[in-house]
Amino acid sequence: MQQILEAIQAGASSDEFANLAIPESYRAAFVKRDETAMFEGVDSWDKDPRTSLHIDEVATPELAPDEVYIAVMASSINFNTVWTSIFEPLPTFGFLDKMGRQNEWGKRHALPYHVVGSDASAVVVRAGSAVRNWKPGDRVTVHCNYVDDQDPSAHNDSMLATNQLIWGFETNFGALADLAVVKANQLMPKPTHLTWEEAAVNGLCSSTSYRMLVSENGAQMKQGDSVLIWGATGGIGGYAVQYVLNGGGTPIGVVSSPERAELLNKMGCEAVIDRRAENYQFWSDENNQDESEWRRFGKKIRELNGGEDVDIVFEHPGRSTMGASVFAVKRGGTVVTCAATSGYMVEFDNRHFWMKLKSLIGSHFANYAESYAANKLLDQGRIQPLLTKTYSLDDVGEASLAVHHNEAEGKLGVLCLAPSEGLGIDDPEKRERIGEDVVTMFRA
Ligand code: NDP
Repeated sequence: MQQILEAIQAGASSDEFANLAIPESYRAAFVKRDETAMFEGVDSWDKDPRTSLHIDEVATPELAPDEVYIAVMASSINFNTVWTSIFEPLPTFGFLDKMGRQNEWGKRHALPYHVVGSDASAVVVRAGSAVRNWKPGDRVTVHCNYVDDQDPSAHNDSMLATNQLIWGFETNFGALADLAVVKANQLMPKPTHLTWEEAAVNGLCSSTSYRMLVSENGAQMKQGDSVLIWGATGGIGGYAVQYVLNGGGTPIGVVSSPERAELLNKMGCEAVIDRRAENYQFWSDENNQDESEWRRFGKKIRELNGGEDVDIVFEHPGRSTMGASVFAVKRGGTVVTCAATSGYMVEFDNRHFWMKLKSLIGSHFANYAESYAANKLLDQGRIQPLLTKTYSLDDVGEASLAVHHNEAEGKLGVLCLAPSEGLGIDDPEKRERIGEDVVTMFRA
């Protein structure tokens, strides 16, 4: 990999890259198939990704014609790496085995180890024989929508494809590594004013929030809409706040500390609810919810929102909040959800839902067009990378634990091949135009 890094640093030509040997093995973060029972009987909270995530050399897989090898400069921690590393709700080896049964190329993925990671900023080092639009040396970011585009079900909205998978979660050879294998149609141009680590953190979370709020497949937020955002300084929540502000809406952000409330104010989100300070108890016990607590929450929202209920709720905590979200959204409003961090068996009072003609939209990552649109907004400097802290690949377990324990704000970057932070900016003038303080808003 050292030769590849030197070629990147020297700005090698496409031909020079093509002449470089692809190493037979590379450094990667992975979980092991024979360790999936290691946390049996352990409480979810105490399952420690530092024990299950290993950093070591793995064999380089063969390249399919529609794929490229990328040298990963930086990656990020997503919650899906937490799920994989605590083997919840299921070990991800089941996904890899399913791929293994699909076709010859799929067989490569069913291995005794799973290389994780779904975000990357990178340089293309080799392109398969069927790749047309990308060449070695191209500086890219990657979206994680892994779809067989020859399947007709993928043609309209590729997220509706029957074989749709998330790269590095439901496939092997993910991004928390020095090298990765991706389909060419996952590649997008790297925003030219961003460093490697800034460019690496956006793909998964920003695209997800874009589909949930902006896209015709999501809540289709309009100018003037008010949007309640759970976890508003978290990975997807922090992008959601930016999309609402960009689109002429009013975000009402929910967080769990005064420091996070302050960060929201700095982002331009004035209406903030500190859920811990308010001490909402939506569940009075394990099986029963307390409608009076939903009402107290709804009253607080109205106080912050000119006396009105919100048009949209950006929902992802799941079981702990869904009842309150469905109750609090306005008559005719929309709850859009993509996750269930606190539990997926959600419950809400259907009377409040149907009598008030509310809608619930299920959303998952983003199709090619949505990922591209989200990437373009980053490139234009209209959406900022949420990077708050950068780790080395060796400390991936530590970084995953911080996300697992809700100790991190925004996104955690991970340096893979990039030797240090601050490298990779291609257009310093553009960065100056957008403003260093704007681009680095979440770190200041
Ligand atoms: P983060 O950990 O970065 O942020 C989540 C935020 O949610 C936290 O900061 C916390 O904010 C808030 N939160 C956590 N638990 C609760 C709770 N019980 N009640 C209220 N708020 C809570 O995670 P991400 O934003 O990256 O991801 C959030 C979820 O979305 C994860 O489950 C992830 O797997 C999923 N996801 C799904 C995607 C998809 O395509 N379907 C894509 C991306 C993520 P605070 O404590 O400040 O309130």
